[in-house]
Amino acid sequence: MIDASSALTVRVLTLFPSMFPGPLGFSLAGSALQRGIWSLETLDIRQFASDKHGSVDGAPYGGGSGMVIRPDVVDSALESSDESSNPVYLTPRGRPLNQKIVHELVEQKDLTILCGRFEGVDERVVKARNLQEISIGDFVLSGGELAAMALIDACVRLLPNVLGNDISVVEESFENGLLEYPQYTRPKVWKGREVPLQLLSGHHKKIKKWRHEAAKRITRERRPDLWAAYWEQNVTAKD
Ligand code: SAH
Repeated sequence: MIDASSALTVRVLTLFPSMFPGPLGFSLAGSALQRGIWSLETLDIRQFASDKHGSVDGAPYGGGSGMVIRPDVVDSALESSDESSNPVYLTPRGRPLNQKIVHELVEQKDLTILCGRFEGVDERVVKARNLQEISIGDFVLSGGELAAMALIDACVRLLPNVLGNDISVVEESFENGLLEYPQYTRPKVWKGREVPLQLLSGHHKKIKKWRHEAAKRITRERRPDLWAAYWEQNVTAKD
């Protein structure tokens, strides 16, 4: 049930409501769900089928393989869900998800997510309802549920009191336009590999500098796209 006092209310429209909360019931997200920091409601799209066969899909006009989810059924499901912001439709054709979009969605405080199946949802309801189309990457899943779980997990961990230490959010990959620096823990030497000396120095400034330099190097090596954007935003202005 939706709890009005939670920092984020999430509503998922799906043909497979029993998949939820699934992995979202564990660890950080699961504990935050139990504590009422966020709330989750699932709506079974099938319950909104109106014909006597309860059909939710049809063959694509123009031919081709697979089935398409009917616009009238999705529309009735959305109608009943009483959302305050534009619902998200997860689709490989959407805007590629990134940390900035995750922040924007968390700000909405109210998130309605439509999960497609088969070949997806009839285009007309996407347009009529002005759905925000979001993709979790350039690959094709067999349904939107796993994508919804990924999106919800990314949102929930940004809510206050979900991570033990709010600082950890600020320093993470993508938050400052860079990938995160490498992490190390005990033992100090493992299989002959040592932890970088700077991290053992106890010298806060040195550690910060080492981490910043490592983050820049890794971003430059692995993600030229992020590095170019970082350079434009920060280096030319400040460094
Ligand atoms: N025929 C579609 C793919 C349908 S996959 C196409 O070629 O674009 C079935 C459903 O899985 C989609 O409706 C969507 O909800 C979900 N899905 C698959 N890949 C996804 C991705 N990369 N991001 C978000 N949702 C995805």
